[in-house]
Amino acid sequence: MINVFPIFMRKLSHVCSLKPYKETKWLMPNGNPIGVYVYNCIANQKVPVILNDPKIATWYSCGPTVYDSAHIGHACCYVKLDILQRILKSFFNIKLVTAMGITDIDDKIIKKAKDTNTDFRVVAKNYEHEFWLDLTSLNVEKPMIITRVSDHIHTIQDFVKNLVDSNMAYITNDGSVYFDTSKFPSYGKLQNMQDSGEPTTTEKRNKMDFALWKGYKPGEPFWETSWGKGRPGWHIECSAMVSKVFGSQIDFHAGGIDLQFPHHENEEAQSCAYHDTRQWANYWIHVGHLNYKDIKMSKSLQNTLSIPDLLKMYTADTFRMACLMSNYRYSMEYSDEMMKTAEAVLNKFKFFLKDVLMYVNDSENGHGDYSNKLLEELQKVEENNLEALKSDFDTASCVNSLLNLVTCANKIIKGNTKDYYPVPVVLTAQYIINVLTKFGLTLQETSENTISNTLIDTIVEFRHMVRKNAMLRKDKELLSACDTVRDKMKMMKVQINDSNKTPTWVMTK
Ligand SMILES: [Zn+2]
Repeated sequence: MINVFPIFMRKLSHVCSLKPYKETKWLMPNGNPIGVYVYNCIANQKVPVILNDPKIATWYSCGPTVYDSAHIGHACCYVKLDILQRILKSFFNIKLVTAMGITDIDDKIIKKAKDTNTDFRVVAKNYEHEFWLDLTSLNVEKPMIITRVSDHIHTIQDFVKNLVDSNMAYITNDGSVYFDTSKFPSYGKLQNMQDSGEPTTTEKRNKMDFALWKGYKPGEPFWETSWGKGRPGWHIECSAMVSKVFGSQIDFHAGGIDLQFPHHENEEAQSCAYHDTRQWANYWIHVGHLNYKDIKMSKSLQNTLSIPDLLKMYTADTFRMACLMSNYRYSMEYSDEMMKTAEAVLNKFKFFLKDVLMYVNDSENGHGDYSNKLLEELQKVEENNLEALKSDFDTASCVNSLLNLVTCANKIIKGNTKDYYPVPVVLTAQYIINVLTKFGLTLQETSENTISNTLIDTIVEFRHMVRKNAMLRKDKELLSACDTVRDKMKMMKVQINDSNKTPTWVMTK
């Protein structure tokens, strides 16, 4: 067993502490269980994923408010959501229809536009463009449907009007519209009641009421409605846009843990009221925070790291590996130590895959055989990993199992050369590649330039021949020169592994 797991990995239990669902406000949907259990904040436990159609699911993620560059807190959220979506698609064969909402009208965008003397639409457009570039650089799959608030003003207005007409919302003197929480008894089901953060105004009937529509303020963008001019409140946007795209029910609704309350609480309340249903989103998915030196990373605290800056230091694969090793629900403590550990784990897999090629293609090895206990181990890991993923997407435990599999296989590869088991070794390598690429890792070297790769191969092979001869002759001077080459290569991000008969190398960052 390898114990390379860092301090930031906390293993999730596969066993649910079962509380009857009837004791909670979560309603078990009718339909087809897919065998996956996911944590639900309303039930406060893992609940079975049940889909109307066993192979089709809808997924909406709350996107960013595009008023500034994204930071690694956003990267963590969207990479982890990307991993979950890939798992549903690749391991459980779910056809997932994904959508993301972009908030392109907001107080912060208006402020930024004023501060920079730019049209608010230009501010939003530029930062949204940057956001998609950042996600692409992190190998996050773009949602199939992108909804922007500015494109859905009429949908939002109709939604608000419907709530006013059904007496679930009221218009105030300043032209704002508030949701009346006293008319919705289940308000607070996502989290125990606390202050929503909405400003207390004398216009509000109840403390927890929240704005669906904000009355016009001079100098701000506005749209005309039957009750006066103004602009949408934040919470209503997602509800209206999701309803427009997916109708009266959605399977998965995701975002950072900070959105659980009040944003998602309000979304659920107003959507249930609008659709006259008791449960709108069946599965709320909340991603834990990324903390930096025990502090939540945020723009307001000025302690952020941009995604391009992150990728100058580490590859997207390394960051994704860190996300896989921490599980989606838990907070991640960002540090160089954490990233170096993730990089070491990733390199362990990369070296292994190269070592496998060397081993199976080595003609000096004995006759092939595949009756080896590695096959049994492989089968066990395949079964355990599927169970781990079924249990609230426990990726950390999968990575750990894969590392143990590498250790088992290395006993053959690096052990007695007369033991030649190409079949189990290749099957193990194939399984590892399969799982890691399904998680969204590219497993590619940083440089895709084949010429430079060939050049590195040549240098590494030449150094290996020189070093082998120097060791035979006990030529300290030549051996020292070989070490210098190795160290210089490392400085150029090429890490050479001398522990094999034939050396291998990987690119680091
Ligand atoms: Zn939202």
